[in-house]
Amino acid sequence: MAEFDVDLFVIGAGSGGVRAGRIAAQHGARVMVAEEDRVGGTCVIRGCVPKKLFVYASRFAEDFEDAAGFGWTVAPPSFDWPTLVAAKDRQIDTLNAAYIRNLERSGAKLVAARATIEDPHTVRLADGTIVTAKYILVATGSTAFVDPALEGRELVITSNEAFHLQSLPEKIVIIGGGYIAVEFAGIFNGLGVETTLIHRGDKLLRGFDDDLRHGLAEALEKKGIRLVLGDSPARIEKGEGGLLVHTMAGLAIPAGQVMVATGRRPNTSGLGLEQAGVQLDGAGAITVDERSQSNVPSIYAVGDVTNRINLTPVAIREGHAFADTIFGNRDVVVDHLGVPKAVFSQPEIGTVGLSEEEALAEFTSVDIFKTSFKSLKNGLSGRDERMLMKLVVDGDSGRVLGCHILGHDAAEMIQLVAIAIKLGATKAQFDATMALHPTAAEELVTMREPSIRHRR
Ligand SMILES: Cc1cc2nc3c(=O)[nH]c(=O)nc-3n(C[C@H](O)[C@H](O)[C@H](O)COP(=O)(O)OP(=O)(O)OC[C@H]3O[C@@H](n4cnc5c(N)ncnc54)[C@H](O)[C@@H]3O)c2cc1C
Repeated sequence: MAEFDVDLFVIGAGSGGVRAGRIAAQHGARVMVAEEDRVGGTCVIRGCVPKKLFVYASRFAEDFEDAAGFGWTVAPPSFDWPTLVAAKDRQIDTLNAAYIRNLERSGAKLVAARATIEDPHTVRLADGTIVTAKYILVATGSTAFVDPALEGRELVITSNEAFHLQSLPEKIVIIGGGYIAVEFAGIFNGLGVETTLIHRGDKLLRGFDDDLRHGLAEALEKKGIRLVLGDSPARIEKGEGGLLVHTMAGLAIPAGQVMVATGRRPNTSGLGLEQAGVQLDGAGAITVDERSQSNVPSIYAVGDVTNRINLTPVAIREGHAFADTIFGNRDVVVDHLGVPKAVFSQPEIGTVGLSEEEALAEFTSVDIFKTSFKSLKNGLSGRDERMLMKLVVDGDSGRVLGCHILGHDAAEMIQLVAIAIKLGATKAQFDATMALHPTAAEELVTMREPSIRHRR
């Protein structure tokens, strides 16, 4: 008789857990995966996918306006929120079903239940069933954080609820300055909601290149989003016909909805990790090594719960690498360097590698190539919006260290630039690549002279 009920027990069927469970089963392991909510996790159910669908929806407002410059007469467009929400839900149902199908086809057994850890080889399901496992993989993701000290916190929504609002408010206040906050500011603004964004820092998008941070803030304000920077909510209360956000600086901003997007926390509480002896860091994330192994040899963790780089493709890679290493006889270590990132703000951001500030801290000689221009399309549409492209280059070796794009299709472009940067491409090799005309991306291979030469 086998020593354990299963070879692998995966807690959480999101991006990382589904991939790990599926690949481990394909390698012949006996796998059980527990999910307490819907299979697909944050990305599919309440993250990347529905968010991008909402971004698409909100962009039509500008497309209708821009069409006039190309000779179109468009009848005053109208928008129906319930239609969008229902269409989005149908798409998510399809993806959810595909995730379940693929997992089950692989041979993994899916259980719809919350699971907690009893000891390094034992898991308890919500109904009390005990399952023993040779390995346990924690892939429980993260949850939206709302400051417990925020007065009026029971009146706010997070991104979870934003996907299911019964109706669109006339006005919304979004609290936060990270990527989720700016993406939702663009979504609501595009759908015609008067949008205010309150952020305690003096710049949006901490950790991104400064030029992107400035450029985006400027563009958001041009689109009519009110930015309240260097301020934070003191309290939120019910006001006449809605809510009222009182800020530390003394503003009182009315809103139909208040959305808090002030970061996410690893989903580790109440999981039984402490009793199993699993080490957590100061942020509550599971501490793991480069093979995603915790300090308890039989317990591994991947994805947001480890708070390394909290993105879906990273969670998927980590899950896949874990399954290959443990069950596939193939030692795989995930490379967390040079991960491209997008912000589906309007305008969009695509970024990879070092920011100018990061490069200056690491290299003695840094060249900055930068261009800002009005796209061909905006020439006719008359839209007052510029694209920004920036290359950060090691002045000694000529290697491109980072690329930062603000503007239409930035995310699509950066995925491909990321390959060149991963391969160690130099600025000279970018320049040797023939431009593709007429595109915006051609600017990436036609910036001849550095705008700034930093020398230390
Ligand atoms: C609004 C929003 C937009 C985002 N946009 C993007 C984007 O554009 N691109 C991108 O790459 N990333 C994006 N992300 C981040 C991305 O969703 C996460 O990085 C990714 O989902 C992490 O995968 P994971 O496997 O670690 O966890 P998750 O996908 O969160 O899966 C964890 C699963 O575990 C389940 N679970 C938790 N505890 C238990 C338990 N005890 N028992 C059973 N099940 C449990 C949960 O229900 C959940 O289904 C976004 C996130 C949000 C919130």
